[in-house]
Amino acid sequence: MMEKVILIRYSEMHLKGQNRKIFEKIFMKNLKLALGDIPYTLVQIKGRYLLENFNSQDSNKIVEKVKRVFGTHSISVATKVKSDIDIIFQCIQTYLKEYCLTKQTFKIQTNRADKSFPLNSMQISSTLGGMVLKNFKNLAVDVHNPDYLINIDMRENGFTFISYATIAGAGGLPVGSSGKGLLLLSGGIDSPVAGHMIAKRGMEIFCIHFHSYPYTNLQARQKVEQLAKLLSTYTGKIQLYLINVTDIQEQIHKLCPSEMMITILRRFMIAIADKLAKQIGIQTLITGENLGQVASQTIEGITSSNAVTSLPVLRPLIGFDKEEIIARARAIGSFEISILPYEDCCTVFLPKHPLIKPKLAEVERAEKKLDIEKLILAAFENMEVVEFKL
Ligand code: ATP
Ligand code: MG
Repeated sequence: MMEKVILIRYSEMHLKGQNRKIFEKIFMKNLKLALGDIPYTLVQIKGRYLLENFNSQDSNKIVEKVKRVFGTHSISVATKVKSDIDIIFQCIQTYLKEYCLTKQTFKIQTNRADKSFPLNSMQISSTLGGMVLKNFKNLAVDVHNPDYLINIDMRENGFTFISYATIAGAGGLPVGSSGKGLLLLSGGIDSPVAGHMIAKRGMEIFCIHFHSYPYTNLQARQKVEQLAKLLSTYTGKIQLYLINVTDIQEQIHKLCPSEMMITILRRFMIAIADKLAKQIGIQTLITGENLGQVASQTIEGITSSNAVTSLPVLRPLIGFDKEEIIARARAIGSFEISILPYEDCCTVFLPKHPLIKPKLAEVERAEKKLDIEKLILAAFENMEVVEFKL
């Protein structure tokens, strides 16, 4: 009996001691969510998950989906056979006959959990290695840098898994194991990357986006929806809250010094996000801010927006260079969407010379002209929600 199986190893969960069971449960749930209605069975065996009983043509699709689930350390597509040297060799032979046609090197690496098996792991490796050398004249052993690393994983229950490659997973912790965060998602390059980073640490992500429809167009909205949808392919699910800030911008434009436009608008965004987070039980805000990148992202700018929320604000990109952020955006697939030319908030209202170092007291004084409470409530009244699922 030779059966294709997929082994899924998870990362970091060993660090969590008592909480491990909870983490494993969330991870299992997220794996199931990612796999949708593909047929398979999933069981947990010591330190890993074993996916069986799937159609072999689904194998690549399954690997691609599992790879993205945070908490996945690595994946191997393996063959499951009875723990018997001849049967194991037969399996290796079938593989080598298909793939190793030229002069190449190999190494056999064995892990034996079954202590009742008569050979120890070294003996298993060398016995099988000898059999390969005898039958494949084109192959030589190289223990340091082999072309083919053959992994033999002999389990306690009389079965052995044989695999030839380890595929890296997304790493991190399973989404849902580190609380909830509300990501301020613009259409730019930075915020999707920030959301991805925090989701990777196990946080469940919700998104809020501010737009200036009809000054900003429908394509701008679709762009943000596309970004939220992309994030949902990593997290399983994303709720996107859309808030129109046109009235707020018009009021600031009319009543406040023009160089404070960005600072005050940013304070409205944070205040609205704070209110929404508290309403739906979210513990933190997340932004794509980056120290010194643009005028509003000085420590003075950050101070002025922190003043309107009592929640912690996570800024995972704070110390990154733009190139580092772009590299990450490319890696997660958001870059191509982010560079589409549609603006998020209306640029009509943006001043030529924004205040780079806004003083909190002056900003607060300027804001006195606005009915902040009323503007925020009105913005909430027109809030829309869109949900994206895997
Ligand atoms: P990004 O690339 O994420 O747009 P940025 O470098 O353009 O960032 P800013 O435009 O100053 O920087 O925005 C800083 C952060 O404020 C963003 O990363 C995002 O978290 C939040 N933000 C800005 N505009 C919006 C918006 N229209 N809707 C929601 N959040 C926003
Ligand atoms: Mg931006």
